[in-house]
Amino acid sequence: MNNSINFPTPINPLIDVKNLVKYFPVKTGLFQRTSAWVQAVDNVSFSVSAGETLGLVGESGCGKTTVGRSILRLIEPTSGSVSYNGKDVLKLRGNELKHIRRDMQLIFQDPYSSLDPRVPIGESIIEGLIIHKIGSPKERNEIMIETLKKVGLEYYHARRYPHEFSGGQRQRIGIARALALKAKFIVCDEPVSALDVSIQSQVLNILKELQKEFNLTYLFIAHNLSVVEHISDRVAVMYLGKIVEITSRADLYQMPLHPYTIALMSAIPIADPHLKRERILLKGDVPSPLNPPKGCRFHPRCPIAKDNCSVEEPVLRELSSDHQVSCHYAEQFLK
Ligand code: SF4
Repeated sequence: MNNSINFPTPINPLIDVKNLVKYFPVKTGLFQRTSAWVQAVDNVSFSVSAGETLGLVGESGCGKTTVGRSILRLIEPTSGSVSYNGKDVLKLRGNELKHIRRDMQLIFQDPYSSLDPRVPIGESIIEGLIIHKIGSPKERNEIMIETLKKVGLEYYHARRYPHEFSGGQRQRIGIARALALKAKFIVCDEPVSALDVSIQSQVLNILKELQKEFNLTYLFIAHNLSVVEHISDRVAVMYLGKIVEITSRADLYQMPLHPYTIALMSAIPIADPHLKRERILLKGDVPSPLNPPKGCRFHPRCPIAKDNCSVEEPVLRELSSDHQVSCHYAEQFLK
């Protein structure tokens, strides 16, 4: 928790996260005393400009979903700061918090879980407008039909129930709900992970088109580097609660500098059958965030670890323009 991380701040960042920490208590015994802490997110910092997509990638359990939900205050961070358009989100209460929540929305991996199965989807979209006191009943209906069209659905879909839609269509409904509220910042939490590959690109294209039209800002969370490459302007790679590398999409895919990112890249299939890439298999499993390794958290699995890696924690440092990495020995991967 003691590393102070400084990222280059984009000009006019819409979202500015500084030293975000989220520890979950582990309660045991009759009196439910806190016996340990799950260090889900540890000192994470980044900024996202208006109209930009930051991809947040890492294996399941690395803390990326916790980052997204902490920014939206769906869970309360342990410490750190989150600023939206210059406002300190973690200090907002009551109406101010409600107001900012309209601007900051979440798209779930499984939109079915966020839709009431007994309510037609048109009403689900209108429900958000009622909560935020937007428009008259007639205007709400118009907004609902307009947003359905924007995500490629028709007005008659409004009367249908969630179970009558495919996974891809339900994801479009999730996007429509955020869009109806005129959200400006959207946390997309693995929005295409559960979809077939052919449907994935349709949903990603809708997200990109809407971003262009409405200058939307996305934090796009995924475990799949290929999906992140398709949509992101910049990418942050997380490992065991920390960001280990952050840079532009082009730099990350052309010159990954952290041994963990390099291993993840080696697992991406290449479309050309004549090209071969050597797969780097990491030893062991991801350690428990209950008791993360000392020094560099990646050292028990790192193929190039040296003695000092288990003692000295690397800080995130800039190795080339706008390319930060937390590894003592990343220079060898510079091209
Ligand atoms: Fe590997 Fe050491 Fe770099 Fe960590 S600091 S990624 S253990 S070489």
